[in-house]
Amino acid sequence: MATVTYQQFYYLPDDEFIELEGLNAYFEHHKNYDLYKDEMYCPECLQCKLEYTPEYSRKAYLSAKDVNQHDDACSFKYEPAPTKTVTTYFQNLNPTQIESKLDSMLNRLHRSPKQIQSDSGKLASSNPFIINDGDVDNSPLTHRKVLRQKKLGRTLRKEDQNQLFAFYGTGTLKIEECEGEREGRKYKYYYLYITVNATTYKVYRGKHHDQIEEEALYNIVLIGYVEGVYTNGIVKIELIKKEPGNSTPNQLAIKLRKV
Ligand SMILES: [Zn+2]
Repeated sequence: MATVTYQQFYYLPDDEFIELEGLNAYFEHHKNYDLYKDEMYCPECLQCKLEYTPEYSRKAYLSAKDVNQHDDACSFKYEPAPTKTVTTYFQNLNPTQIESKLDSMLNRLHRSPKQIQSDSGKLASSNPFIINDGDVDNSPLTHRKVLRQKKLGRTLRKEDQNQLFAFYGTGTLKIEECEGEREGRKYKYYYLYITVNATTYKVYRGKHHDQIEEEALYNIVLIGYVEGVYTNGIVKIELIKKEPGNSTPNQLAIKLRKV
């Protein structure tokens, strides 16, 4: 199993989340991280202690001291769900169920430390990112897998390409309307552009025309994978497929909520 790493941590004394980049900058300046040492916790459950490995021969990273310290409903306790599992799982949900699933993902991604604390001890099923792999009625801990999360607007690592994630972030949106022709008939199709920080993502929406406000800020979650980066720096994200082996994207696997 690959080591699970963290992009941010919860710093207990200040009751706030700190990005790994911030810790790297602190370490570079002070040549130590004594201020944070022993006070770094998992950003999702606030229970598992994290440790920091500064940049040496490989990039700096945060890892769990002991994964058993995670709350049962914490995503970091489980192994990543294979793409096929996630695709099949969403294929078996109806549009209303998918919508409510993505809604609760967005809610979970925007919890304050206080909300997280009050959620502690809840069942694993309260976490919409945890998916049962296999027989749902008879699912011991080992059958629980997690849909990994990736924040938009961060530098993408090479190994993240073509890996399935729930991408999330807060940014602005734009729609591109295109016209195609098939057997003499014209039709319209759309691309959604998401800009978070300085990075823009392009998502194929097919005939689905998202109704958005161009100047507004949105909280976004979408399930898919990075297919590549265009020469102009725009990152192409493909949504999960409608069913395993089929190339049609699941156009419901995205949720946009105005801030
Ligand atoms: Zn945790």
